[in-house]
Amino acid sequence: MSSALPNFEQALAVVNAYAGDLAKSLRREREDVELSHALGRVLAQPLLADQDQPPFARSTRDGFACRAEEAARHKPLLLAGSTRAGEAAAGPLPRGAVWEIMTGAAMPIGADAVMMLEHVENRGDHIRLLPTRKIKAGENVVVQGAQAKRGDVLLPAGSRIGAAQIALAAACGYAKIGVFKRPRVAILTTGDELVPIASTPGPGQIRNSNASMLAALVSSHGGDPWVLPSAADNEESLSAALLQASDADLLLISGGVSAGKFDLVEPALARFGADFHFTGVRIQPGKPLVFGELHSHAKAVSRRKDRRKRPFYGLPGNPISSAVTFLLFVAPVLAQLTGSVEGGSRFVLAQLRQDTDRKGKPGLTRFLPAHCDFSPAMSQLPQVATVPWHGSGDLAAFARSNCFVVVPEEAGFLEAGSTVRILLP
Ligand code: AMP
Ligand code: MG
Repeated sequence: MSSALPNFEQALAVVNAYAGDLAKSLRREREDVELSHALGRVLAQPLLADQDQPPFARSTRDGFACRAEEAARHKPLLLAGSTRAGEAAAGPLPRGAVWEIMTGAAMPIGADAVMMLEHVENRGDHIRLLPTRKIKAGENVVVQGAQAKRGDVLLPAGSRIGAAQIALAAACGYAKIGVFKRPRVAILTTGDELVPIASTPGPGQIRNSNASMLAALVSSHGGDPWVLPSAADNEESLSAALLQASDADLLLISGGVSAGKFDLVEPALARFGADFHFTGVRIQPGKPLVFGELHSHAKAVSRRKDRRKRPFYGLPGNPISSAVTFLLFVAPVLAQLTGSVEGGSRFVLAQLRQDTDRKGKPGLTRFLPAHCDFSPAMSQLPQVATVPWHGSGDLAAFARSNCFVVVPEEAGFLEAGSTVRILLP
């Protein structure tokens, strides 16, 4: 039975193809936000230069603006004036003269280079380039429009906004900026054993940690989490919850997708007319992962005017399984829904620490919680070690990890010191 399940790459290909189709069919709504609230959002408009960048030729050093060809002769040149940052371009620079200038100040008209303060000698009102120094036109000057011309597209729509993009938008005068509305992601946890975090669990009960964790993952990946009340493991409760949740752009269901007697999520989705792309993946943890979509003919969705397809995931209830499957398979689709041109899971190479080796499970790609030191010595890869854990419910081990070591499907063994792929959170 399980050999019929897709392996990791096959499942990822299904998800990526789906995400690609979404990109073609989605009409995303946009809104304007204050630039100070734009962090983590996605540009819905290209970011344009409102003027040349830099808007005037500027000095990159404290020193003396000059004509390079005159200064290069190492003869004393008359100090004719001074410009500080914030003052308009002075000049024209007289022949045989230099102009004192500060970093960021506008170059005087006629000057083509800046001698650094440290590279000159100062005699009365005359300045001379030290004989050991050379100078060429353009040195220590950024000409007007070097970075961008007025009207240039500096960032395309679909760019994720971080600190650098905020700085650029600020420099171009965007006090407000057009971003895509965040997709609404319903989070439906299921399980008779779950109690809210503020309650003390009774015998056999546990606190619902997945709702909070998934909300955090959704937020950090650009979605707007909508946490629904947890559903019990019975038909009525699941049907009522699905009806409510089908309003969202993306539906994440946690728990109830394994093979147990009370794992009723799949049948509940089937009753809603769901299509399943896959109902398991040959990975560990996370094997019971379900991915599909609710069609417009589905009972719940047909009430809506907007007949878009609604992707859903049934994530295995164990917290580490939920997190891994989110990072691998939900992230690419969520990225598309946010409008981001980049997105999906992120992998890098690292070196398995000398004191660590790991068994694989042939036929399953494994994702082991691990801690990576991302400040390796020069010319060394980041150093990673798996975190000891007691299975995919071990939240304490999970919280001590900062990545997952990937054990390929075909690997019987990962040797200490070998180069491995790690999945980043
Ligand atoms: P399930 O996938 O429903 O079979 O659940 C697998 C394991 O994950 C069980 O031990 C559950 O108690 C646990 N689990 C399920 N849902 C949650 C949740 N929301 N928060 C924390 N643990 C959960
Ligand atoms: Mg359950």
